[in-house]
Amino acid sequence: VNRNLHPINSTINIGENSIGSNNITIIAGPCSVESEEQIVNIAERVKASGATFLRGGVFKPRTSPYSFQGLGENGLELLKIAKEKTGLPIVTELMSLEYLDMFLEDVDVIQIGARNMQNYPLLKEVGKIKKPVLLKRGMSATIEEFLMAAEYIMLEGNENVILCERGIRTFERYTRNTLDLSAVPILKKLSHLPVIVDPSHGTGLWWLVEPLSKAAIAVGADGLIIEVHNDPLNARCDGEQSITTGRFQKLMESLKLIAKVE
Ligand code: PEP
Ligand code: MN
Repeated sequence: VNRNLHPINSTINIGENSIGSNNITIIAGPCSVESEEQIVNIAERVKASGATFLRGGVFKPRTSPYSFQGLGENGLELLKIAKEKTGLPIVTELMSLEYLDMFLEDVDVIQIGARNMQNYPLLKEVGKIKKPVLLKRGMSATIEEFLMAAEYIMLEGNENVILCERGIRTFERYTRNTLDLSAVPILKKLSHLPVIVDPSHGTGLWWLVEPLSKAAIAVGADGLIIEVHNDPLNARCDGEQSITTGRFQKLMESLKLIAKVE
């Protein structure tokens, strides 16, 4: 991951898209896939607004075991339908190695969530493949620990790693996490890997997504991953931090005024 050994920025090519080049990559979609109608509707709307990747969790790392755990394999099938209908490549979280083969086949970018940032066996296995990995910063991870987690993946041979700042736990409780925007230029100084920002988990509040998205671009992020829902009030997961498809459209319009978004 060390910039000194690799002075040129890495770009990660996924189909027609690339992450880490001179454009801002927008990954958008619901926290969780809930139904075919929901995921296809959101995918069509975010695509029409200019998103180039669809996110949607199917294996969900929920704090409470009584909360909705995601649709699992069936959810993956629904993501595939949304991809077929819109052409948007899909980003979804892998929590267990038993699904790795399935993800290799169907998923375009494998997300490793904050809770698994230091799951070293998982990191080593996704290091043995070539599929791009979106590695989220652990909620209490230092920048050094974050980069060492990326190193675990790259040491096995997979250089297609995208770093994601998603907020860290501090004493502040107004926001769900404290979005550490200073991590963005620091990560870019220390490493050649693309860095994206998650203002949804970073704040936990939908109305903070727009200002923090703009701020992330201002500090040099290569992209954003944003939770968008057709009906946030009734979302099965993370509705309070999800923006509507209408607000996402407006957000994209305002981002296009400040950056090359594609
Ligand atoms: C998510 O992207 O829905 C998620 C669970 O993120 P994190 O791992 O950052 O909490
Ligand atoms: Mn979420």
